[in-house]
Amino acid sequence: MAVQPLPETRPCERLCPKCERWKHHSRFRTWTRRHRSISTLTFATLCKDCEQIERNERVNEDRPLAIIDRRTASRARTLGVSKSFLWVNMNWSSLVPEMRALMTDEGRCRSCGHAFVNERDIQIEHREPPRLRGDWAREHARNLGIFCQSCNNTKGDKSYAEWLDEQEEARLSNERHRSETDATAAFVPWAQLTLDDVSPPPLAESYAAAAILSG
Ligand SMILES: [Zn+2]
Ligand SMILES: [Zn+2]
Repeated sequence: MAVQPLPETRPCERLCPKCERWKHHSRFRTWTRRHRSISTLTFATLCKDCEQIERNERVNEDRPLAIIDRRTASRARTLGVSKSFLWVNMNWSSLVPEMRALMTDEGRCRSCGHAFVNERDIQIEHREPPRLRGDWAREHARNLGIFCQSCNNTKGDKSYAEWLDEQEEARLSNERHRSETDATAAFVPWAQLTLDDVSPPPLAESYAAAAILSG
């Protein structure tokens, strides 16, 4: 009767859960964690080869689709429904082409008009906040918008109408503030400033300068 040999793993090896192979520990990325004066060496979960494979997969995947897919899955988990319910019945799949457009160089936050900082900055927001768990009228894609994180934070749990008014108030208040500071600051463009121009010129001069620039 043949004796089954034990798997040949040595103490210097680690198991990579992706390729399911035991490999020498030098084939895993490491980094040092310091807590107080004790530093510990931490190993990456996957071997370097598998990490490279995952990186390539990420480069080749359809990012907008993958991002919306992941966020749909995460919302579905929170609500305790299947992903396909949100994807199909709640029409979340319609967010993909929108995401695709926002991830180009032309992508702008519809609220502040600025470019997105990175992928994470492109956030899905409920226009009207859900009133309870499983508020399907408000989980439907027709109630979703995509904004940058800063704008998303200003929205919070406010009603859409309340938020619109608040944002308009902020815009007006900022414009008032800007016209006050612009009037006291020099009208000289930054490019023309030299190191001697550390303090703004007297008001009359700046208006004269403005007249020359615009005239
Ligand atoms: Zn591996
Ligand atoms: Zn924004």
